[in-house]
Amino acid sequence: MTSIANRTAPAVEEAERHTAHNYHPLPVVIAEAEGAWVTDVDGRRYLDCLAGYSALNFGHRHPALITVAREQLDRVTLTSRAFLHDQFGPFCADLARLTGKDMVLPMNSGAEAVETAIKVSRKWGYRVKGVESGKATIIVADGNFHGRTTTIVSFSTDPDARADYGPYTPGFVVVPYGDADALAAAIDDTTVAVLLEPIQGEAGVLVPPSGYLAAVRRLCTERNVLFVADEIQSGLGRTGATFACDDEHVVPDMYILGKALGGGIVPVSAVAADSAILGVLRPGEHGSTFGGNPLACAVARAVIALLETGEPQARALEVGAHLHRRLNALIGHGLTAVRGRGLWAGIDIDPALMTGREASERLMARGVLAKDTHGSTLRLAPPLVVTEEEIDMAVDALEAVLRS
Ligand SMILES: *Cc1c(COP(=O)(O)O)cnc(C)c1O
Repeated sequence: MTSIANRTAPAVEEAERHTAHNYHPLPVVIAEAEGAWVTDVDGRRYLDCLAGYSALNFGHRHPALITVAREQLDRVTLTSRAFLHDQFGPFCADLARLTGKDMVLPMNSGAEAVETAIKVSRKWGYRVKGVESGKATIIVADGNFHGRTTTIVSFSTDPDARADYGPYTPGFVVVPYGDADALAAAIDDTTVAVLLEPIQGEAGVLVPPSGYLAAVRRLCTERNVLFVADEIQSGLGRTGATFACDDEHVVPDMYILGKALGGGIVPVSAVAADSAILGVLRPGEHGSTFGGNPLACAVARAVIALLETGEPQARALEVGAHLHRRLNALIGHGLTAVRGRGLWAGIDIDPALMTGREASERLMARGVLAKDTHGSTLRLAPPLVVTEEEIDMAVDALEAVLRS
């Protein structure tokens, strides 16, 4: 760190000494945040172009969300699912309406919601589809990211995420992402579900060929297989639509939601599906102590209310178009490719220039926080409250970094 940093360096050292090194954070120590901006312990301000991996779609401390959270803190925060509370039914009804499904099952982390989707798909396979006991398979895509549990990393194709965590959970078949023919060939009598990200986030914001999601939908319907869309990162406004599936006019059988559903305040995740699917669960067959707690439900209801105005989606579309216009102009000038939709971009930096890590460190020095995904790929996903002027500031900083 530079010599002007007086609080940052010791705080970075302390964290490094006492934390497992399962992350490699940028050396910035955030003390406060509002909207699209964060301030570090030394008073420096940064534009947040990661937004908590899309957990902060509505920005830091959105006033409407903070108000609801404060009010709920003064009423009731936890009951467990042994009892009902007055936010639970309304939350489930609100999320059912937003997703167009009739049932919701709330959990906490994204990985738990993915686990829930896997369990429900298998149970549906045995109890409804009639798959032979213990034989159910789920088709997933190469390059997927669905979370960090032992079962989920069992079907990861990323060696860092998977190595030395075996024995692995069987029952998953990996096919190339974006290849509908490969998917069709992989479906057999044991297939209960196809689990996909409509846009692969961690893989570098990979958008599948147009028509792919529609082909997946068609195949799943024809072959009596559940189409499960992991919209944890792609959903809730990021792409300019409520769900990335909407952009392809596709309706999956099950949505998996998380990240932004908690408004950047509390972890909230959920799966949503019709009762013919979620109705397979009976008392005692699945659960979570904190899932669907009053604070989570109150905040998530306020998130859903924001999304029902359509404003976050409209901003993502409009400001996102500006972001992509600016980024596309840098192709051949330090960038080799730009992908994405809405306020979401994966950019490939010419590997001859620098790694993604180096680029994110240099952006940080210019007041922009972003994170590399793999190699020389950077992900830009600012809060949807960001302005075009702030986007210009971020892209100007990137241009300067690529020139330096
Ligand atoms: C982040 C993410 C998850 C996992 O969510 P956690 O809350 O970190 O467990 C799952 N799927 C996708 C697509 C994600 O982006």
